[in-house]
Amino acid sequence: MESTDVVIIGAGVVGLAIAAEIAGRYPDLQVIVMERNVQFGQETSCRNSEVIHSGIYYLKDSLKARLCVTGKDLLYRFCHEQGVPYKRLGKLIVAVSDDDLPSLQMLMERALANGVEDISYMEAREVSQLEPHIASKGALFSPSTGILDSHKLMKRLEWLALKDGAMMAYCHEARGIMPRGDGYIVEFTNPDGSADAISCSWLINCAGLGADRVASWMGIDVEKEGYRLYPCKGEYFSVNSSKAELARHLIYPPPHEELKGLGIHVTKTLDGRIRLGPSAFYVDKIDYSVDPGNAGDFYDSVKGFLPFLDFTDLEPEMAGIRPKLQGPGQPFRDFIIRHEADRGLKGIINLLGIESPGLTCCLSIAGMVADMICR
Ligand SMILES: Cc1cc2nc3c(=O)[nH]c(=O)nc-3n(C[C@H](O)[C@H](O)[C@H](O)COP(=O)(O)OP(=O)(O)OC[C@H]3O[C@@H](n4cnc5c(N)ncnc54)[C@H](O)[C@@H]3O)c2cc1C
Repeated sequence: MESTDVVIIGAGVVGLAIAAEIAGRYPDLQVIVMERNVQFGQETSCRNSEVIHSGIYYLKDSLKARLCVTGKDLLYRFCHEQGVPYKRLGKLIVAVSDDDLPSLQMLMERALANGVEDISYMEAREVSQLEPHIASKGALFSPSTGILDSHKLMKRLEWLALKDGAMMAYCHEARGIMPRGDGYIVEFTNPDGSADAISCSWLINCAGLGADRVASWMGIDVEKEGYRLYPCKGEYFSVNSSKAELARHLIYPPPHEELKGLGIHVTKTLDGRIRLGPSAFYVDKIDYSVDPGNAGDFYDSVKGFLPFLDFTDLEPEMAGIRPKLQGPGQPFRDFIIRHEADRGLKGIINLLGIESPGLTCCLSIAGMVADMICR
């Protein structure tokens, strides 16, 4: 049987960032990334808003807050140095009515507590100077929120990992895990469907929507330990390109506690188009189709701050699915990023619930996981 030092299951942006970090930091460790699809980034990492978040929303001291604030700076520097396209567009969180103003105040306090120091409040008059076509009663402005090209980011991470000796095993699906000696045997299928296995000392579970299944193979009771994932779909609608110039920033409504996402908002693409989304609703199966019948909900959600929008401007675009640890009606859940040594699973690092802002955090997550390997 083949053996290696580190197996990473999943070549999304997080698995790739971890592979690049470990291969670069520990040249003596042999790293294999096992991915069931033909290429990296075919699931959640290519179905998101591509926003570099600043860290405003998340509970103080949570991993989401800390890794987002540090990850954002790492990611901007990485994009700049490695030639990954990005734009520091800035983001407005707008109050649509006077009733929204107190939630902006609460959000501002949370952002400051999280170390997001560049956030500021703007009166309606200042907002209309920045965005003349947007209706608001005032807004928070976050200049350090931006967008990036996630495919080029992943391509660069893959390149760095390969350069430092990591191997990418595409079309290889992990099927089981068994302990052996000081390490583990990972069972998988080859591209031709034949069964195979490899032994390793470190196993890093970055399997996104499949991460709870992978954790269950380790003997972890996913229900009891709170590792079960609840897929939560987000659809996007594109806006007629003739209106692309009418919003220049990312524009969000204030979030409400019951929302499973940040509320349907305006994202911009690197080529300047306007996209609305994502929505948020729990699903039982992985299906990336967009229901055109949901256009009315999208229109109703944003027409208060996008008065220039006509219903006929909306076209179904794409959908992504969040791997949420928080089930329907449940309170906030943080990322799980954990070396499972205290469960008798030394050498296993699980990453679960890596929903937004996971793209922003990919490099800070990679640093955290590589530190665990060091111990
Ligand atoms: C609608 C939406 C909008 C979002 N917007 C943003 C945003 O604007 N900014 C931001 O920071 N974050 C955003 N996110 C979150 C971000 O996209 C994710 O956090 C990130 O992509 C997670 O990457 P990952 O590598 O953990 O998972 P994935 O990209 O899902 O990768 C997991 C990989 O594991 C593989 N895999 C699974 N099981 C196996 C197996 N048994 N064997 C082999 N391979 C396997 C899969 O094929 C997949 O390629 C958004 C997410 C969604 C859904």
